[in-house]
Amino acid sequence: MDCVICTHKVFVTERIDANGRPYHKTCFKCSEKGCRLTLVNFHSHEGRLYCQKHVPKLQAIISPLNRRRLVHSSSTSSSNLSSEGSTSSF
Ligand SMILES: [Zn+2]
Ligand SMILES: [Zn+2]
Repeated sequence: MDCVICTHKVFVTERIDANGRPYHKTCFKCSEKGCRLTLVNFHSHEGRLYCQKHVPKLQAIISPLNRRRLVHSSSTSSSNLSSEGSTSSF
């Protein structure tokens, strides 16, 4: 079996199976920043691995059929009334 990330051969001793696919232990990391991943908290998206922080927006994963570019030019001319609520402390 070949590593999904680097496409090199994976030996059993350095192999991690995620979603039924083989990865090197060293390749099993966030493709964005190289964050450490575990089999519990990793995200795979389009053949790449991401940590919870850097995974692309979930919308793209949930609905792959409706792939549209969101090119809505939203006019950001809304005035934000910054009224921060006081944090209730005990
Ligand atoms: Zn690899
Ligand atoms: Zn990351």
